[in-house]
Amino acid sequence: MAQAQNQELTERFIQFYRNYYRDAIGQLAQKYPNEQRSLYVDYDDLYTFDPDLAEDYLSQPDQLREYAEEALRLYDLPADVSLGQAHVRLRNIPDSIDIRGIRVHDNHVGKLVSVQGIVRKATDVRPKITEAAFECQRCGTMTYIPQADGSFQEPHECQGCERQGPFRVNFDQSEFIDSQKLRIQESPEGLRGGETPQSIDVNIEDDITGRVTAGDHVTVTGVLHIEQMKQGNEKSPIFDLYMDGVSITIEDEEFEDMDITEEDKREIIELSNHPDIYEEMVASVAPSIYGYDKEKLAMILQLFSGVTKHLPDGSRIRGDLHMLLIGDPGTGKSQMLSYIQNIAPRSVYTSGKGSSSAGLTAAAVRDDFGDGQQWSLEAGALVLADKGIAAVDELDKMRPEDRSAMHEGLEQQKISVSKAGINATLKSRCSLLGAANPKYGRFDQYEPIGEQIDLEPALISRFDLIFTVTDQPDPDHDSRLADHILRTNYAGELHTQRTRMPRSNFTAEEVDAVTEEVAPEIEPDLLRKYIAYAKRNVFPTMTPEAKQTISDFYVDLRAKGADEDAPVPVTARKLEALVRLSEASARVRLSDTVEQEDAERAVDLARSCLQDIGVDPETGQFDADVVETGQSKTQRDRIKNLKQLIAEIEDEYEEGAPVDEVLERAGEIGLDRSKAEGEIEKLRRKGEVYEPRQNHLRTT
Ligand code: ADP
Ligand code: MG
Repeated sequence: MAQAQNQELTERFIQFYRNYYRDAIGQLAQKYPNEQRSLYVDYDDLYTFDPDLAEDYLSQPDQLREYAEEALRLYDLPADVSLGQAHVRLRNIPDSIDIRGIRVHDNHVGKLVSVQGIVRKATDVRPKITEAAFECQRCGTMTYIPQADGSFQEPHECQGCERQGPFRVNFDQSEFIDSQKLRIQESPEGLRGGETPQSIDVNIEDDITGRVTAGDHVTVTGVLHIEQMKQGNEKSPIFDLYMDGVSITIEDEEFEDMDITEEDKREIIELSNHPDIYEEMVASVAPSIYGYDKEKLAMILQLFSGVTKHLPDGSRIRGDLHMLLIGDPGTGKSQMLSYIQNIAPRSVYTSGKGSSSAGLTAAAVRDDFGDGQQWSLEAGALVLADKGIAAVDELDKMRPEDRSAMHEGLEQQKISVSKAGINATLKSRCSLLGAANPKYGRFDQYEPIGEQIDLEPALISRFDLIFTVTDQPDPDHDSRLADHILRTNYAGELHTQRTRMPRSNFTAEEVDAVTEEVAPEIEPDLLRKYIAYAKRNVFPTMTPEAKQTISDFYVDLRAKGADEDAPVPVTARKLEALVRLSEASARVRLSDTVEQEDAERAVDLARSCLQDIGVDPETGQFDADVVETGQSKTQRDRIKNLKQLIAEIEDEYEEGAPVDEVLERAGEIGLDRSKAEGEIEKLRRKGEVYEPRQNHLRTT
């Protein structure tokens, strides 16, 4: 009876292949086994052929797959071809499930399911033994033991002499298959309000291994299994979920989860025509944080981003904007950064210290993710945020490994990993929104920014905009800030009281009125859609007026610094930043052209940032060197002079230049004592002067 049913099922599949997959199988037969080892079956085809069969395939995938593969072997092929080990891989099954939604009582276990996500981690592809040949060292007989997942099975006794070995595994006679393990994590756009992304591990074998890499967005179809966890050697009552992958499809990285309806579209276009759309946008970013209108505008522009340009020579200019907030503690930086998650269609929020072994960029790591201590490639924040925003708090605390990889990540927008045989280039086409504290905790207004942050100048220069946030008492500002914070908190109190205490004296209307005042102007949900819509559909180009505005600003700034031997004020990097900012500004209006007003908006932002940081604190001149090398020209001159001075003085004394004398003469050339002491210390640290004996200096 069972026999007959099996045969019937196999026959059904053969019939199905004849109707739908004649050509595909012909092709497979030609390429088997070297170039192709799988027949891909589309679920819809199977469903059209026989809905019951298709549904059975979902609920009993392991059994049905055997019949499907048996049918493939029995299929009428040219005499010289056999598809002995060919796989049947079903794909495009209906309804993918959420990784976080996988539950035992939903009866997903043992079923064919599909999940969408991003490859967080991937092991190297390694051979896995599927059947081990044990050669008896006494009589030479082979004992074959099929190997399943889990531990390595050895024979109890030799099939020849029936003794307990010893055995040696004969590799030539054993069978191996390529295997790989992947960790699929929920896509960043599926997450709301700082949820921790969940993941599921997937085992894959043979021809589908080595096809995807960390950072790829994929749909994985596979059979869901449970596996008992262990605590040391004890079995635990808790089980873990994993999948045996049947097929993997790489998805287009656009915002796949973002459904924009016709109704949304109408609303977006209507909004884009508001004359005060920029103010409305600004009022929709972190409304609980008072002030920071420039920073918030910049964040909006960053969300919309400039246009990625592909040049005829094949090169590309990034459209993504990077920006950095450096400032005193307790000024709301972290709050602003984390708000990004509410409005960015795709974002990753993390701390520079990094919560995973991959850190901010990517890494080859060796841990117990694979079987044994296997190398795997793991994607960090900048890769996971590909085509979105990476909000990185405490950027100054990032790990040394990340620093060098960051340069490439930010400018070339890819990250290369080359270690332990793993050579990979991962995409990181994201915008970085960073926050950092000054080196010594708080800002010293009189020292150049470059010296006060723990990021190297080359990295700093990758940022399109750098905002400095200082926290200085100012009665006017402070009282408005206090007002704002108290009002926000009060709204929160009212809301909480109304929901938690049934006999609250406040009416719903009162709560609404107060809430209204502190609510974002545009609902976060709509704003996300707005941004996704603009990034998908709007690719503006510059008008002559816009070009002129940017060019004027740039030339003017350069000219300001060009007199005498003044420092170069701004480099061409700024020019590209201005273009990106203007394009983003046009996108906010859904405009296909970048108008003068957009260029002016960009110039305004750039100017205010430059004033905050690019200015040589001692001359008031714009000085790109401060930003890009971390030292202003005045300061470099001063250090040069001081070194010269030490050299002069040391000629006059046998045992080196006495420090007191140096300090006194430095005073005469306009360096006060404490500055000069600081500079001497710096020269010493750099090895440009040393102390042959106490309180005496010599140049090197
Ligand atoms: P930072 O990351 O800059 O050290 P936080 O974001 O942790 O600061 O902010 C500290 C606290 O101060 C937060 O609760 C924040 O809401 C509040 N705060 C700071 N500045 C502002 C502001 N301008 N408006 C509203 N709240 C603020
Ligand atoms: Mg903080």
